[in-house]
Amino acid sequence: MRVLSVLDESVVDGPGVRTVIFTAGCPHRCRGCHNPESWNPKGGDEVTVESLLERVEASDWDGVTVSGGEPFLQPRELSRLVRGCKALGKNVWVYTGYTLEALEQLEDEQVNDVLDHADVLVDGKFVETLLDRSLRFRGSSNQRIIFLNKV
Ligand code: SF4
Repeated sequence: MRVLSVLDESVVDGPGVRTVIFTAGCPHRCRGCHNPESWNPKGGDEVTVESLLERVEASDWDGVTVSGGEPFLQPRELSRLVRGCKALGKNVWVYTGYTLEALEQLEDEQVNDVLDHADVLVDGKFVETLLDRSLRFRGSSNQRIIFLNKV
């Protein structure tokens, strides 16, 4: 999996203290993007999903957030990562510049697998004119915090 960086201790990418995995590559090119160095799909390093899971397992935190970049650019690896984190008992949030509806319309097996296993999707592009610094865990008011799993 192409990964820009891993933060072992974040309090701003979802509730509680979390491990955050920033994936490389983003096609959305939002105006005002806080992280344009993440756009290059060849940026960062190639790491195995297993090595990421080992790092997650070694952390004391309850949560894992996958952000970017655009995590859904690597759907197969993302689904393995999300499944693996859930198997470790972690709460999993995934950020994406796509809307949930756009992801569902892809009818892609791996994408659907992520949506079936992640706890929360934070969706939508960052829209500079809708910037709202009072929002928790998202930058602009069009972005939604969607609880996926749910029974
Ligand atoms: S989706 Fe996120 S990383 Fe991608 S361009 Fe938009 S703000 Fe930047």
